[in-house]
Amino acid sequence: MLSLALLSSGAVNAAPKPPKSVRLYVFDCGSIKGLATSTFDLKPEEVTAKGFVVPCYLVVHPKGTMMWDVGVIPDSMFKADGAPVTQGISTVTKPLLPQLAAIGYTPADIKYLALSHYHSDHDANANSFAGSTWLVRKEDRDVMFAEKPAGIIQPTHYSGLKNSKTVILDKDEYDVFGDGTVVIKSAPGHTPGHQVLFLKFKKDGPVLVAGDLYHYPEERTLNRFPSFEFNKEQSAVSRKNIDEFLKKTHAQIWIEHDQATFDKLKKAPEYYQ
Ligand SMILES: [Zn+2]
Repeated sequence: MLSLALLSSGAVNAAPKPPKSVRLYVFDCGSIKGLATSTFDLKPEEVTAKGFVVPCYLVVHPKGTMMWDVGVIPDSMFKADGAPVTQGISTVTKPLLPQLAAIGYTPADIKYLALSHYHSDHDANANSFAGSTWLVRKEDRDVMFAEKPAGIIQPTHYSGLKNSKTVILDKDEYDVFGDGTVVIKSAPGHTPGHQVLFLKFKKDGPVLVAGDLYHYPEERTLNRFPSFEFNKEQSAVSRKNIDEFLKKTHAQIWIEHDQATFDKLKKAPEYYQ
């Protein structure tokens, strides 16, 4: 009887069966309001959006799972009543882990964690995935664990990653599951180890999740750069390289913070495949 009970409780807690081809779930991880458009070298009348969204993403591949970007405010800041949490200019209405749980996943089911970069609006729940294998570039990791991390950075978000199993990515492309459907590409400049995510869906076609290569789509059309780039010249080269990559792959680009892009996306429990 005991083994039966264990078996059935195991079945209840098990992650969903791996899919036949790669899937992507998109979650609402909050919003950022009130940043001056001049921070992005744009006049207010040059932009359409009134602020930014913060998405989180779960990649589910036949061979495993990967979180890509994990929010702006940690789930731990939510009170028992579940009311929205505001910190400075950021607001989160739904914590991340319950959104994951709603589609059947817990952090223990997540094989890899990758962040587009270390800014605090991308890594809030990183500590929840300290048991996953962290895919990171040395240039970003070095800043994160510098003696005095500087810039848009919140070490309490990711302190647990220090001893995580880590793979240092040192090539232009890192093929996460070895079949070309989930590829992390180097795109430095916004931060020294900034990276973007290429996904090749069987049904929905190729997509590039662009991290903060751009924030407002107008940065792309008007060729503007944020004032807080780690290295603007490097960003310009990355943008050019990614443009060529988009041409070559015919991938669509998703600018993570862009409200118009986000509004049109399918959100979990729906998924891309
Ligand atoms: Zn950002």
